Amino acid sequence: MQEEHKHTCIVCGLEKTEGIHIVTQFICDSCEREMVRTDVKDEKYPFYIHQLKQLWIQDNIS
Ligand SMILES: [Zn+2]
Repeated sequence: MQEEHKHTCIVCGLEKTEGIHIVTQFICDSCEREMVRTDVKDEKYPFYIHQLKQLWIQDNIS
């Protein structure tokens, strides 16, 4: 039943098999690379930070 370990990426919302786990959440390989590449001045950067902050908040609550 669980041959493929697909996880829903919190950034793009797609189901991927490769990526990283942060706390209980998952970020796919392509988004992770995108985040590393993203400059602080990039308009996407606050979005990533926002997503990550939600992870830390969730972790603190639970
Ligand atoms: Zn993704």
